[in-house]
Amino acid sequence: MRKVCIIYTGGTIGMVPTEKGYAPEKGALNKELSNLKDLSAADMPEWDLVELDPLLDSSNITYRDWNKIGREIAGRYEDYDGFVVLHGTDTMAYTASALSFMLENLGKPVILTGSQIPLCQLRSDGKDNLITSMLIAADSVVPEVCLYFGNKLLRGNRSYKSSADRLIAFSSPNYPSLASAGIEISYNCNLILEKPDPEIRPFKLTEMRRTSIGVIKLHPGIHFDVFAPIVTKNLEGLVIEAFGTGNMPNYDEELPYVIRQAIENGTVVVVGTQCAQGKVRLGTYDVSSQLVEAGVVSAGNMTTEAIVTKLAYLLSLGLSRQEIHELMEGDLRGEMDDRM
Ligand code: ASP
Repeated sequence: MRKVCIIYTGGTIGMVPTEKGYAPEKGALNKELSNLKDLSAADMPEWDLVELDPLLDSSNITYRDWNKIGREIAGRYEDYDGFVVLHGTDTMAYTASALSFMLENLGKPVILTGSQIPLCQLRSDGKDNLITSMLIAADSVVPEVCLYFGNKLLRGNRSYKSSADRLIAFSSPNYPSLASAGIEISYNCNLILEKPDPEIRPFKLTEMRRTSIGVIKLHPGIHFDVFAPIVTKNLEGLVIEAFGTGNMPNYDEELPYVIRQAIENGTVVVVGTQCAQGKVRLGTYDVSSQLVEAGVVSAGNMTTEAIVTKLAYLLSLGLSRQEIHELMEGDLRGEMDDRM
């Protein structure tokens, strides 16, 4: 009998309406699950539920909660065929990305899912998301941290929340889905990462530490000086969401103060793109050439969610700035793999 562990962190799927809007409530998800007959169907795996305390709206998730989830998985790693992490949709792609880096040499599915409508409400999308995620977690085909939503299984560190109100709320524009659930669940096996041999590459959890990372999204006419207060010696990483292939204004003739100062302070400066699809190609235009000379990191086609969490992970490993620069520009967990 296959066995799946469900870890409930909070999020809409188990929320209840309150005077101040939807909020998670202890025990409410368990009550909904006990009413779901499908969970005891013959084809379903055995399952256990672990409810984290406190339950969170995912806007409140921090690296501490990522560590908690990581520890829950690592502590039960040998006891289950796979894991389903129930999570709020708002920051689900960040948690999926963070876990993909923290869970090294993963050999089992870790599937994040949730819903846009609570299980306790009419038309909830939670039931299918949960049941299909459990079947995928029990299948052992995908040894990756994934996000399942709206019939698609996406690589976690390639996904982002692209809709605030559609039931198909996540997209992965730079990598195709790993599986789709129609009448059957069909896996795109050639796109899935290889299962590591545990004798040679044993599973390992790396916990995150508190890091200071700033993200600046450019807009036309941006005044860089307003960001000056954030570029202190304490800023460890600065992510610039630039235009197109990594372009930014050079109307001041010189590199904006924030970037110059950050680099002088030893901050890792990463340039990503505001475009959902495609990649950063620094030096293609005059307006990005000075960034190359200054020594910024090119984020390739990583999502901002992957950039921020990968940076936090590499900083947590205590590596040098140069090592972090090199690893940021290479693929660790399929987050910038070009295979399509
Ligand atoms: N605010 C909720 C959360 O992220 C939204 C959701 O779960 O869909 O926890």
